[in-house]
Amino acid sequence: MSSIIQLLPDHVANQIAAGEVVQRPASVVKELLENAVDAKATDIKLIIKDAGKSLIQVIDNGVGMSVTDSRLCFERHATSKIRQAEDLFSLHTKGFRGEALASIAAIAHVEMKTKQDQEELGTHIVIEGGKFMSQEPAVLPKGTSFAVKNLFFNIPARRNFLKSETVEQRHIVDEFQRVAMAHPNIHFTMYHNGSEMFNLPISNFRQRIVNIFSGKTNEKLVPVKEETDILSLQGFVGKPEFSKKNRGEQFFFVNDRFIKSGYLHHAVMAAYEGLLKDGSQPSYFLYLTVPPHTIDINIHPTKTEIKFDDEHALYAILRSAIKHSLGQFNVAPVLDFDRDPNLDTPYQYQNKEAEYPTIQVDRSYNPFADDKPSKSFSTPSYKKPEAQPNWESLYVGLKQAGQELAEMTFENDAVTSSLFEENEVEQEVKRTYQIHKKYIVSPIKSGMVIINQNRAHERVLYEAFLTSMTVHQASSQQLLFPLQLYFSAPEMDLLAELKSALENTGFVFEAMEVDHVMISGLPVNVTESEISIVLEELLRDLQDGIPDSSFSQNDTIAKSMARSLAIKTGTYLTEKEQENLVHNLFACKEPDVSPFQKPTFITMSVEDIDKKFSV
Ligand code: ADP
Ligand code: MG
Repeated sequence: MSSIIQLLPDHVANQIAAGEVVQRPASVVKELLENAVDAKATDIKLIIKDAGKSLIQVIDNGVGMSVTDSRLCFERHATSKIRQAEDLFSLHTKGFRGEALASIAAIAHVEMKTKQDQEELGTHIVIEGGKFMSQEPAVLPKGTSFAVKNLFFNIPARRNFLKSETVEQRHIVDEFQRVAMAHPNIHFTMYHNGSEMFNLPISNFRQRIVNIFSGKTNEKLVPVKEETDILSLQGFVGKPEFSKKNRGEQFFFVNDRFIKSGYLHHAVMAAYEGLLKDGSQPSYFLYLTVPPHTIDINIHPTKTEIKFDDEHALYAILRSAIKHSLGQFNVAPVLDFDRDPNLDTPYQYQNKEAEYPTIQVDRSYNPFADDKPSKSFSTPSYKKPEAQPNWESLYVGLKQAGQELAEMTFENDAVTSSLFEENEVEQEVKRTYQIHKKYIVSPIKSGMVIINQNRAHERVLYEAFLTSMTVHQASSQQLLFPLQLYFSAPEMDLLAELKSALENTGFVFEAMEVDHVMISGLPVNVTESEISIVLEELLRDLQDGIPDSSFSQNDTIAKSMARSLAIKTGTYLTEKEQENLVHNLFACKEPDVSPFQKPTFITMSVEDIDKKFSV
């Protein structure tokens, strides 16, 4: 009988391989992001359209590829990451199988642009269904951009199996988060259908987690750390009381790679024994570093499962390290990581005082409030010194104890004096209304006042910052882990010049190096996740130079920070928050204009309203 076995043509082989590697748009996202990480990029952008069905693009500033490599990379088993079998056991890269790009190109339209730093020109390649359509030299920035369109155009069955956009989008976000969480030293941004979904500045593990999962995550985390010969473990586990019904935030990273492991999950659950309500699931973010030769990553095409040499030992170490951390937390519930949530959510009211190790302040003190700390809002307030500071005299004339909005009197301004109705509205009646998440409306004696929430809060913060800068009494919140932020050389120069002024607002700089600052303390009304934005905007505002006089310097800083931090249009405010904003606004020296001289509120008299009805 004649022989019947034939070698499959490359494009068929590639399509088959693609079936393993590329299950859905999210798989492409993972492979492209990992290639960018392997290319030593420090800035990676992911751009998605229609949950990846129309476009998946990854742009990096990594090493790029030579002309030859830019063609070769689409071949199957073409990789720069390993050379021989032994290399499989000393892997320091995400990729090594050399099949992702061949697979993706086999089932989509791909446009690649790449340039190496030392080259004048880069290469622009278009490849569709594995066929090279064009290759041209092009003027490009350093790095690589991959745009993948029409995924599964030649495999209709696959295309039809894709789930709804919401589901596919969720998978993409999952992959993005996993890679971003493993690499806090890389700046990641993600856009979906033109809008920015994530912007994750370079930071540390804790900060990266907080930036991804919101500021509230910070206070839920308990640090875990353990060093042994076979495993170095660091990361965070969630406090038991924050455990959830579903297994949302559970992550293992082994040598910077997200992996799934039922066995290690079991070890974590064992550590929580007796601490969880039936069936509830703790969060965990655990980073394991093991000698590369003790694991095998090549047991699954997507590399999310790993075989460990000594699984039992890892299990035991993991369990006891986590138990220890949780134990410490339970025995000493007021360790310093147990921060006051007030600091993270500016508009939350807590009857709890946090302790601040360095500076003695009474954060709750508010000259306009009664002695309940819950009135403190997010305005910094200061320990009342024996001798009253001058700025307090700004507020003479305000009643202090048990003050109600309705009883407030104002001396600053003709409009604001006795603005609010006295004793007319009963206590239970709602006094403020938020409309369109933009304005706060409140009845007043003569009619009503409409307050622009953003401008009002800018005013409140501006005066608060200015006061703390001139009085030199800023309170500061200590960070458990100092935050490292990178800046360009000119930006670092500016920061160095502004250092003392910024310290007066509550910043504590542990170090200022050539290209980065280490921040170990923040002003009380700035959260960790806001900090890079605040500084970036400040630097932008000061691009044209720092004002000479220290007053205008302080003024510029206070304005810039007020603008960055003020609640924005579109933010929902609870009734209490609305009331406090109104309250704080009219306690300001110049309540009627924002720091940028825009009106903060308008009033409408009953006559004005009557007139409108008389037509
Ligand atoms: P692997 O990552 O397993 O090596 P891939 O098919 O993903 O295989 O990529 C093939 C090769 O193409 C890589 O080994 C690398 O040399 C090169 N490459 C891919 N993406 C990039 C990128 N973003 N920047 C620079 N080189 C890249
Ligand atoms: Mg790869």
